[in-house]
Amino acid sequence: MTTNGTGAEVVVDLDAIAANTAVLRGRVGRPLMAVVKADGYGHGLVPAARAALAGGADQLGVAVLAEALALRAAGVTAPVLAWLNGPGADVAAALAADVEVSVNAGWGLAEVVAAARATGRPARLHLFADTGLSREGAPMTEWPELVAAAARAQADGDVSVVGLWSHLAYADAPTHPTIAAQVRVFEEAVAIARAAGLTDARRHLANSAATVALPDTWFDMVRPGVAVYGLDPLGGDAADHGLRPAMTVRARVALTKRVRAGAGVSYGHTYTTPAETTLALVPVGYADGVPRAGGNSAPVLAAGAQRTIAGRVCMDQFVLDVGDATVSPGDEVVLWGPGDRGEPTAQQWADATGTIHYELVTRVGGRFTRRYTGSAGAV
Ligand SMILES: *Cc1c(COP(=O)(O)O)cnc(C)c1O
Repeated sequence: MTTNGTGAEVVVDLDAIAANTAVLRGRVGRPLMAVVKADGYGHGLVPAARAALAGGADQLGVAVLAEALALRAAGVTAPVLAWLNGPGADVAAALAADVEVSVNAGWGLAEVVAAARATGRPARLHLFADTGLSREGAPMTEWPELVAAAARAQADGDVSVVGLWSHLAYADAPTHPTIAAQVRVFEEAVAIARAAGLTDARRHLANSAATVALPDTWFDMVRPGVAVYGLDPLGGDAADHGLRPAMTVRARVALTKRVRAGAGVSYGHTYTTPAETTLALVPVGYADGVPRAGGNSAPVLAAGAQRTIAGRVCMDQFVLDVGDATVSPGDEVVLWGPGDRGEPTAQQWADATGTIHYELVTRVGGRFTRRYTGSAGAV
């Protein structure tokens, strides 16, 4: 792997991904689809997929077809579902690569049937019901018609309906009344599909939060993403669920200097040194996925302690005020990691910057290089 000359790197612990998968799989005691969309939540699509499979994942889930095809191109042969297919998606390529697809509407089903006929390969199909998120899925008003059309396509040999599924709006608030309401609608949707003859499909509803907190949503398979990477979907301490964050984000100090009291720091001088002090320059910025909102708010581990970023985060860099601590160019700065060396967690960063850890881990990139530790799934 190349380095970028600054030592800034995202270190991904493959063994943690495997162990987290095993913990989740063991907890639910039924098949698990590890979600590896968005470049494995920023951990690397193929290595994350292989590590999750090594940890016992039964299949993989991605958003778009290109992600599924990238897994196949890398030699990953496990079942993969690609669920976010717009009109004109290359369903024939999906079928040729043995990728399962999902549809939300009759026109999507028609495209799948056409591709199956063109290629001579029946599609392994999941039908997505909108049970209350109002995002993907067929609304209940359209569900019976979609199910009937899918049953006809199955009878014709063009599709095999292997999944009936939906997605929760409030799984991270385990007592929210929408959860029971969505489960009820999902059960109705399943009953309609079964009555239409779609009896062999796996039912799946649970994302990470539901996988750790809501056994009533587990049905025939769970579908966790963020928890596979060791982040607590409920916003608490991942260790409470036996999970370990797989990502560590670190950089190296590029420059240090001693400045007087009253020095304005970084653009707009939103930070002023309270006393004579040492500043350390860290060569990563918002172009690398370090949120600009971290200015004067986000913590990092540097020179033996957690310190808040001093002044604005710039495109390529930010500044730390380390006081009279000893710090030298080349010293390590940890933005976030598992937390056991005293470094902040992605959850702490999320709290400091007004976002969720999902956004932080999926966006970190730019000039960070990625490096893997551990051996789970390595080829
Ligand atoms: C992203 C996604 C998941 C995984 O969600 P997590 O909260 O990361 O577990 C599951 N299902 C669908 C439909 C998704 O879009």
